[in-house]
Order: sequence, then structure tokens, then C-alpha cells
Amino acid sequence: MSFHSLGLSDALLKAIDKKGYTQPSPIQEKAIPLILERKDVLASAQTGTGKTAGFTLPLLHLLAQEQPLKKRPVRALILTPTRELAAQIYDNVREYSEFLDLKAAVIFGGVNAKPQITTLRRGVDILVATPGRLLDLHEQGAFSLSKVEILVLDEADRMLDMGFARDLNKILKFLPGKRQNLLFSATFSPAIKKLASGILYNPAFVEAAPENTTAEKVAQKVYQVDKAEKTALIIELIDKGNWNQVLVFTRTKHGANRLSEKLGKQRISSAAIHGNKSQGARTKALAGFKSGAVRVLVATDIAARGLDIPLLPHVINFELPNIPEDYVHRIGRTGRAGAEGEAISLVSQEEREYLKNIEKLLKQRIPSEIVEGFEPTETPENTPLISQKNKGNSRNRNNNNSKRSSSKRNSNSSSSNKRSYRR
Ligand code: AMP
Repeated sequence: MSFHSLGLSDALLKAIDKKGYTQPSPIQEKAIPLILERKDVLASAQTGTGKTAGFTLPLLHLLAQEQPLKKRPVRALILTPTRELAAQIYDNVREYSEFLDLKAAVIFGGVNAKPQITTLRRGVDILVATPGRLLDLHEQGAFSLSKVEILVLDEADRMLDMGFARDLNKILKFLPGKRQNLLFSATFSPAIKKLASGILYNPAFVEAAPENTTAEKVAQKVYQVDKAEKTALIIELIDKGNWNQVLVFTRTKHGANRLSEKLGKQRISSAAIHGNKSQGARTKALAGFKSGAVRVLVATDIAARGLDIPLLPHVINFELPNIPEDYVHRIGRTGRAGAEGEAISLVSQEEREYLKNIEKLLKQRIPSEIVEGFEPTETPENTPLISQKNKGNSRNRNNNNSKRSSSKRNSNSSSSNKRSYRR
């Protein structure tokens, strides 16, 4: 199957070619023709499947079929839960629309609203936004939503998780009743189904490959190592392997900062990315990482969600996540869109229970090795599990700034490995 046979215009095919894509991903193959037929679509897909191009390409095709309207009111609205995702989708829209006469803008909170208002007042065909800032600026009369033809809700499950349901309902009231709706979500809880049934009209359902196919493409390995030796081991791996683009996961924000500093002292350029960092710092870290100026990006789980880091060769779990599903998301950052990748986990004795739970979820054992010079001295007898050490100390479990995680996860004190939602 080629992009050509999906019915996309030459201008889009040229942009696709420039990106270097040779064939559509499964979700693109399924979703693009349906969207081009102006059907409402409900799609089960997560980051890494090519979903962004899956809705952006046909959306641009449809908009470009008609002359831009006078004053360029918003004709396509793409809502997404986080600033990072919004910025990435906007970048994609810009790239794919390079050869089209369409204007796009992105708005999200945490940055000065004035330049956003100025851009909006000049008129944009496509608006990518997070719900809060969209409502703010709409209230200020910066733009109108009355000419929206296509609405995209991206990562709808996360929008609900992050408490955006009310904002979404408010936004819907500003949109014309007759429009095309596309809803992308990684999971389909009853809340998502309810949202979907309120928004979509007779939708077609499409599904990307299930999560574990990502895991199958990734070469996974566990290195057993003492907790105190992890930093030395990671330095050795990066140095000896001459790795130039490594994504490292830690469980906590402090852990991410600490590791990044230690790597810096060893002249390994790195940056930490987590919920406490300002938007500017996060954007800068990611840009540095993408350009190659930053060799190692140290991230917490929530901060890394939705980051568009293509073809990443190495992912290292400096610490295993306490939520097994997060492991699958982490390793999904490598081996993307056809490329192969390697995911290494440094596992100390106190994490043995986390490893067991991850293997249970994956239904497979992860090959385990010991690196010469880093032979572990910790034993199950002399090392309590983290979950035992942390009993009654919920702060260690939450390394993000999202309210829903702390309230929902902590209410489940009997098991730190359960998550209130699945992605
Ligand atoms: P997404 O799931 O939208 O976050 O996309 C994941 C990554 O795959 C991004 O880096 C895209 O640039 C890339 N990508 C999207 N579609 C294709 C394709 N058809 N071929 C190769 N890479 C792609």
C-alpha cells in the first residue's frame, strides 16, 4: 500500500516524501480513506503508531479542496491534553502543509498569551490547542469557532484523566452542529465511550496494532546491578557504546535532575525533562536532544508521554516504573515506525517485584545479564522491596504534576502497581 493509493493530493505526497515516509502505517492506511470520505472516526491508537499523520494528512487534504475563507476563521480544531503534544502536532501540521495555502497556529498555557492572540487575530485555518488556553482566549474574543468543519480530539482518554471533561463540553457549545469529528484514544473506558457517543455521529472504528506488538519489535534486556552502582554503569554503557541519543527514564523528578547532573560531570551532555520544568526549559531540552546537541535526555514517565522522538535507538530504564504499563510506554519510544531499538533496564534488588509485575504483563521473561565489574552484592535477604520501604510514603510514587495521578493512585494503597486507567 502506498500513500498515493490513499487518495491524498500531490502537495501532500510531496510533503510526505520530504519526511521520508515510504508507506503508510496501519492506522494511516485505515483512517485516512475514511476521513477523506468525511466520516466521523473513532480510533484506538497511541503515540508511536503514526496517528498524528493519520488525522493531519486527510484533514489538510479536505481543507485545501476549498479556497481559504475570507479572514481565515478556524476551520479545523485539534484539541490535545498537553503542551508538548500540542507543539508536536503543530510541527507536523506545518511540515505536511508546506506546499498548501493553509495557515496554522498552536496555543497552550504556561506561556505569554499575547503573541498567540496576535496570531489568531490575523486568522488561521487550523488551530491546535489545549482546552484551558483555548477557552481563555476564546472568552477574550481572539477568534471564533463558528466555522469549524473538522474537530479532532487527540488522546481523549488523557484529556479526561487530566480533568478536561468540563472544558471540552464548554468548547463543544461554540462549534457548529454540522461538522466532522475524529476522536483518538488509547483506551476505551466507559467515560470515553460516553464522550464519544455525545460527539461522534455514526462513527467508523479503526484500531492500530495492539500495544504488545511494539514490545515485540524492541530488544529488551535487564542488567542486574546494585542500586549504588547504577550511575557508574549507565556512564560506562553510554561511553563504551558510544551512544549519541539515549532516552533515560527515572521514577522521580529529583532522580532525573540528579542523574542529569552526574552525567554532566562526566562530560556527557544531558538534560532533564519533567513536570517541574518550565515549558521553555522542556522545549529547549527536547530541541537539543533532537538536534544532537544533548546526548542524553533524562525523563520521568508523565513528561515523556507523547514526546515525538523519531527512531530512537536506545532507551534505558535507570529505574523500573512502579506501574507495569509505563514500562510498555517507555520502551515504545524505541523501535518506532519500523526501526529496531534496544531497551535496557538497570534493575536492583529492591525493584525485583516491579520486574516480576512487568514480566507478568508482557507475558514474557526479559533476558537478564550481569555486566563485568558490576556484579551485584545485594540479595533478596538484605534488600527490602521498594514497595515495603515506601509504605505510607506516597510521595515517592508520584513524580508528576498531574492531579489525577496522585489522587487516584494513592487511593489504592494496597497495591502501588495498579493504575486507575489503562492506556
Ligand atoms: P505519532 O504516533 O503520530 O506520534 O508518530 C510517531 C512517529 O512516526 C513520528 O516520529 C512520525 O514522524 C513517524 N511516522 C508517522 N508516519 C510514518 C510513516 N508512514 N512512516 C514512517 N514514519 C512515520
